[in-house]
Amino acid sequence: MKNKIKNLLLLFGVTLLIACTSTAPITGRKQLKLIDDASLVQSSVASYNQLINQTKAQGMLANNTANGRRLASIGKRVATAVETYMVQNGMQDRIKYLNWEFNLINSKDINAFAMPGGKIAFYTGILPILKTDAAIAFVMGHEIGHVIGGHHAEGASNQQLAGLASGLTNIFVGGLTSSLVNDGLSLGLLKFNRTQEYEADKYGLIFMAMAGYNPEEGVKAEERMASVSGNNGSDFASTHPASQKRIQALKEFLPEAMKYYRK
Ligand SMILES: [Zn+2]
Repeated sequence: MKNKIKNLLLLFGVTLLIACTSTAPITGRKQLKLIDDASLVQSSVASYNQLINQTKAQGMLANNTANGRRLASIGKRVATAVETYMVQNGMQDRIKYLNWEFNLINSKDINAFAMPGGKIAFYTGILPILKTDAAIAFVMGHEIGHVIGGHHAEGASNQQLAGLASGLTNIFVGGLTSSLVNDGLSLGLLKFNRTQEYEADKYGLIFMAMAGYNPEEGVKAEERMASVSGNNGSDFASTHPASQKRIQALKEFLPEAMKYYRK
């Protein structure tokens, strides 16, 4: 009897996996989506708001500075260009649950991150390295790429798949979404895998190009980032593929990104 249930669950699981194959926009990469992007938004946004409110209470929010306004303006410009492209190419479903927000946090960390729902934050420590608006637009495009590419839901799905392989248990019994959604903050800080990071880099070049920034400046930005290695917890240093390989991949992708460049 136990085996019968196990087999049934396995069959159900396999069917679910087939049913949940998704495609990343523009790059066309096939992804596993046991959970959809929109269902992650609510809890993630709550976690993000909590983080931003705490930052504000500690006087660490730098939105009302020249750099804060500059960051928000670049963020809006890139996000608007991406949304326009998505709508024009019949992908409006992928952006309908997004409500972009761009915050600048006072911190020496060389970092930026994105959470589901279009919630982006930069640390001031990354700005002296990026220097130019175009370089900021590249990192912005990279972070927006994690959102548009549905990387959070994909990461959560892969975690579930790992659970499925080892236990085949609470995924169905406990409810697939509840356990994941309750854990919004850890999802937001979920480490992306190499495939996702390389894809986010491609998005970075494409999205900055769509917004009118020369993608060649994105490669230069990455070269500057590579020169300050050894940072902890950075979405752009320690969690990323080896810098030289990344720069090489960006250079190889540059001709494709140039096709999207609106001067
Ligand atoms: Zn990243």
